[in-house]
Amino acid sequence: MNRSPTAERAVRADGLVCTFGATTVIADLTLDVIAGELFAILGPSGCGKTTALRLLAGFERPSAGRLTLLRDLVAAPSVHVPPERRGIGMVFQDYALFPHMSVGENVAYGVPVPGDRRGRVAEVLTLTGLSGFADRRVHELSGGEQQRVALARALAPRPRLLLLDEPFSNLDPTLRARVRGELREIVKRAGTTAILVTHDQEEALSIADRVAFMWRGRIEQVGTPDEIYRLPATIHAAEFIGDANLFRARADGGCVATPFGEYPAPAGADRVAIVVRPEDVELRPDGVPGRLVAREYYGHDQVLHVRLVGGALVRVRAGPRLHAQGTEVALALRAAPVVLVDDGDAEGAGAG
Ligand code: ATP
Repeated sequence: MNRSPTAERAVRADGLVCTFGATTVIADLTLDVIAGELFAILGPSGCGKTTALRLLAGFERPSAGRLTLLRDLVAAPSVHVPPERRGIGMVFQDYALFPHMSVGENVAYGVPVPGDRRGRVAEVLTLTGLSGFADRRVHELSGGEQQRVALARALAPRPRLLLLDEPFSNLDPTLRARVRGELREIVKRAGTTAILVTHDQEEALSIADRVAFMWRGRIEQVGTPDEIYRLPATIHAAEFIGDANLFRARADGGCVATPFGEYPAPAGADRVAIVVRPEDVELRPDGVPGRLVAREYYGHDQVLHVRLVGGALVRVRAGPRLHAQGTEVALALRAAPVVLVDDGDAEGAGAG
C-alpha cells in the first residue's frame, strides 16, 4: 500500500455531522482515504456505519463538516453535490439486482454511454470472473456469484469510489472467507478506491488495508489491521476488536500496578484500563500463580480461564494440551500490555 506523502487522497471527510430530528447519529466522521485503498469502517450495530456511507454517497446531507472526493468539495453545510454526480458505485447489502434481467443486462444497466456498453460489460465480467455468465438469469446464481454481479455493475461506470454496505452479510458463513478474498482481488485489479462497512471484525481485519473503528457516531481510531489490533487506542476498540482481558486500576505517579507487575501509565491519567490479549499470556513456571477454573476447547487451541492468587481472572490462549480443571498454573506476559486512559464510558462494550 503506497502511503507516501505524494499518494493521492481520494476521500477526505472532515468533522461530518448528521442528525435525524433531535438525534445525532454521526457526531464526527473524520477520515482520509488514499486512492486505491480498500478501507473498512468497523463498529457495532447501530453505531452509524450505514449512515456514514449514505453521507459519503450523498443520500444524506451533513449539518456540519466538509466532504471532499478527490479534489472536489461535494458536501458542506452550503454545498450538496447529488449522488449521481459524485462518481460513486454502491454495492448494497441485498445486492439490489434486477431478478428478471440477465447478468449482462444487470451489468449494462450500470454503464452510462450506450456505445461503450458491450465492451465495458465484457471487460467487467472478465474482471469479476463472470465471463461465461452474461446470459444467465440472476436467480440461477449462487449468493457469491450474485455478489460478483453486484460488484461488476457497480464497477462498470468506472466509479472513483466504491462503497460496500456489509457486503458479506447475505452469504453462508462457509462461503464468506473465500468471497472476501475474491472481493479484495477484484477491487485491487480494478484499481478503485473502496470503503466497506461491517460489524464483523474478522472481515475488516482480513481484507482492508486500513480500518476505521467507529463507536456511537465517531471514528475513534484509524490504522492498519495490525495497529488496530495490537495497539487499540480506546477501551471500546480493545473490547470490540478481538478478545481482550481488561483490568481497571488507578495510576499512581505515572505507573500502574497490574497482576503482572508495574507498567507505565499514560501521562496525567488517573484511572486506566490495562489490555492484555489472551495470546500474549503464557503458562510459565516462574509466573504469577493461579488456578485453572474453566476452559473453552477449540481443537487447534483452547482458552484457559485462570484465577490468579490476587483474585484477577485471566483468559489465556494456550495449545491444545489438556489441563484438568483445578490445576495449579502460573502465568506470565509475553509482551507489555497496552495501558489506556479509562474515561468511565465503556458500558455496553462488555467492560468489567
Ligand atoms: P447496523 O450495523 O445495525 O446496520 P449501523 O452501524 O449501520 O447499524 P445506522 O443504520 O447508520 O447504524 O444507524 C445508526 C442509528 O441511527 C440507529 O440508531 C438508527 O436507528 C438511527 N437512524 C438511522 N437512520 C435514521 C433515520 N432516517 N431517522 C432516524 N434515525 C435513524
